[in-house]
Amino acid sequence: MSERRQISGREEGWGEEREAAETRGILSEIIAQSADALVAAFYETLLAHDEASEFLSQTIVQDRLSNSLRAWILDLLVEQDEQAFADRQVQIGLVHARIKIPIHLVLEGATVLKSNIGWRLGEMALSGRQVARALIHLDQRVDLAMRLMSAAYVSGTKDSVQVDEAYRLFSLGQDISLERETQRAALLEWSQLILFDLFGSGDTAPLPAIQASPFGLWLRHRAGVLFQGLPALASIEAAMRQIDGVLLPKIAEGRIEKGAKLNEPLSRLQATIDEIKFFLSELFQATTALEAGRDPLTRTLNRRFLPSILSREVTLARSNGTPLSLLMVDVDHFKQINDRWGHSVGDLVLRQIAELILENVRLSDFVFRYGGEEFLIALVETDGPEAFEAAERIRTLFMERTFRLPDGREMNATASVGIASFQGHPDYAVLIDAADHALYRAKAEGRNRVAAA
Ligand code: GH3
Ligand code: MG
Ligand code: MG
Repeated sequence: MSERRQISGREEGWGEEREAAETRGILSEIIAQSADALVAAFYETLLAHDEASEFLSQTIVQDRLSNSLRAWILDLLVEQDEQAFADRQVQIGLVHARIKIPIHLVLEGATVLKSNIGWRLGEMALSGRQVARALIHLDQRVDLAMRLMSAAYVSGTKDSVQVDEAYRLFSLGQDISLERETQRAALLEWSQLILFDLFGSGDTAPLPAIQASPFGLWLRHRAGVLFQGLPALASIEAAMRQIDGVLLPKIAEGRIEKGAKLNEPLSRLQATIDEIKFFLSELFQATTALEAGRDPLTRTLNRRFLPSILSREVTLARSNGTPLSLLMVDVDHFKQINDRWGHSVGDLVLRQIAELILENVRLSDFVFRYGGEEFLIALVETDGPEAFEAAERIRTLFMERTFRLPDGREMNATASVGIASFQGHPDYAVLIDAADHALYRAKAEGRNRVAAA
């Protein structure tokens, strides 16, 4: 085979070019004849999915997407500028990521397209070789487009997740109690506006929708981030929809006739506003308990922030070439402390060691409550020897601290520390595992000591 290629390489090269042009010609003919049918088959399949109806509607498909898809099919089958083609696939993947279209739906659409074109090829008067070439070309181009799109999709999604998480952390760091007061006031202001419009102005101006009010805006945007996933948030949203969709129209209706017809919807409005107030304080209570992402007992960071913070730190260490070390700190024989002195003394010891850790790391470091009596500390831009020093300092100070109990008795406690320094592995879990193993060694070697991975 390679011999034959060598002998007639030049001739075959010419033939290949001619055949490639022929293949493009065949495929353009299909597009010219059946672009509309192809587009229709594509969207028909997708719209049959409940999942897809979130992104696609008949009108959007008709007005916008059909043309883009037609252009994409043309691009796919006949474009010869490889770079321009690749760039456009990346752009499409990024758009899909931004609007969060699931990749599998796009793949399914591509499958529909492939088989549809395949059948049409079969109906044309072509040689077996021509059909085979066209099918292979089609297959390769669709797969290439899907590869480029998925790669762009994944990187686009990762970026937006990181932004989400960063914003969430930022938001949680804001003054929560101030925010609570401001939003209570905003809710009150909106409800007064309704009453004012009803009884004050006397005209028939439309009543202000709560979803369009400053409170509604705040709820949709800020609260969505701050209280992500809390059930009270969904309850408030439902109550707001009820107000705008049902109660305000009823009130507007009753306003024209005045009198008794107004009483019932107005008292329901009041009850719904009270409900919102109740759920609102529930939301804020939940965050006060977390104290802006911190564990209420020890004031260290909640473990749920660990993935976003550590993956960010590992990325920084990798791209900047800076060191990064983890300390895993675990109180020794903590069970015995609990058993002997009681759970509240155990809590006191935990608060003390957390305080001691927080006093002995920099503001740029991260201290997490990793488990019951385990703390994970990320020492940023800190190498192994420096981390060892920090660990020794914490261990010694903790050992030297004497706890005075309410009944006058005194007690001491110790802790063990495992250290791991970043070695270039992109997965932060590897670093945590290494710190964990080092801690295990410190325990096995007698406790009240520091061990490095
Ligand atoms: P080792 O030296 O091997 O670490 O021994 P240990 O007793 O500390 O080991 P282990 O990790 O098994 O025990 C941890 C105990 O910490 C078990 C659990 O009852 C207790 N604990 C977990 N969370 C809390 C808490 O918030 N307060 C108190 N008082 N105790 C807790
Ligand atoms: Mg433990
Ligand atoms: Mg322990």
